[in-house]
Amino acid sequence: MAGLKTINHVDMRNRNITIIVNYLYRYAPISRASLARKSGLNKATVTSIIRVLIENGFVIETGKSLRKVIGHPATALQVNPDAARVIGAEIRAEEVVVAVMDLSPAILWRESQTIQEGQKAVSVIDQTLRLLNKAYYSVKYLGIPVLGIVVSLPGLVDLSTNTLIDAPGMGWKNVPVGEMIQREIHLPLAIGNSAHMGSIAENYFGASKDSEVSLYLNLGSTLSSGIVIMDSVLSGAAGLASEAGHMTIDPHGEKCACGNSGCWDTVASQRALLKRVRYAIQRGQPSLIQEVVGGELTKITFSHVLEAAKVRDEVALRAFEETGCWLGVGLSGLINLLNPETIILGGSMSAGHEFLLPAIEEEIQKRAFVGAVKDCQISLAKYGEDSSLLGSLAVVYWNLLNQLQYITLSTKELV
Ligand SMILES: [Zn+2]
Repeated sequence: MAGLKTINHVDMRNRNITIIVNYLYRYAPISRASLARKSGLNKATVTSIIRVLIENGFVIETGKSLRKVIGHPATALQVNPDAARVIGAEIRAEEVVVAVMDLSPAILWRESQTIQEGQKAVSVIDQTLRLLNKAYYSVKYLGIPVLGIVVSLPGLVDLSTNTLIDAPGMGWKNVPVGEMIQREIHLPLAIGNSAHMGSIAENYFGASKDSEVSLYLNLGSTLSSGIVIMDSVLSGAAGLASEAGHMTIDPHGEKCACGNSGCWDTVASQRALLKRVRYAIQRGQPSLIQEVVGGELTKITFSHVLEAAKVRDEVALRAFEETGCWLGVGLSGLINLLNPETIILGGSMSAGHEFLLPAIEEEIQKRAFVGAVKDCQISLAKYGEDSSLLGSLAVVYWNLLNQLQYITLSTKELV
């Protein structure tokens, strides 16, 4: 009948395979019997699909036995970490990092190169391409398939054209990153916003694995975010959603690199924290940070402020507290809007969480709906600065779990 798609036995079998891979990824190590119980598939179907997945090297028996209440111990299964590799790249404000990951997830190889301030996008993409090629050849000689390359970018990305639309922190606009990479490297490619990647990595493997709604804040030199709802990043019509860093929080505030004024980024990012420290010292407040940098305030880094806070330097502590307050103000609105189960703090400034959290929590208690706060847990990113890199693997996992062809097996063998 026109307009109706008939589900045949091949579709059904393929659907069952993705269901099993899904449960394996979520609950491994897991036995065949538990897979059948959790998925609702019958045991014969599970056994037959697992047999083919093992024969094709996609699933392995771990060698561990799972305790059973009655009868023999059951053999534990998991996705084979060595079934394939994924190459992830992340362009950050100060460096480009490229890594090779297995499916466990683990980073097996990584290399980074520094980016100069003001460096042109074309030259940074060239640098990235050289590292990507190096990563690819480090895998190729092993004969393990590379499922794809995923590149995280520090700005707004148009997913329909794989273009970086605007990276305010870098001064880049309309860079066709996808096209530039695919001209040189012919592997499946995805690009995305770094905070979106971080949010999906934490949702798949990290701190928000069991949450239906989570908010990831990348507290890097700039402030960015990703919202994950039911295992998918809220990306909007063209991939521009989930970006809370540029919501206006103070209409009379400071000019932001994006062109607007008073964005959340201008008051709650690591850059805002450093500005507070410099301003306090310029006003004559004593701080050991001034001695550490020999009076050259432009040389103050986040590590200087963190180290100073640890020895109770007043200027450093006050800067953390103010930044935490602004983080809490913005988060209160987002909690009311999203009612998230988890808020994850990632990025380099999250290393100062002990000095940020009291002010963040105080603002949230004051401003957000009581019920929404009660259900919300603030956690640190499990993968710290590597969240966005591991997002590459999460993106590929999403494809594995939703599109059978990404499981590197021939459909013919499976049906
Ligand atoms: Zn802005």
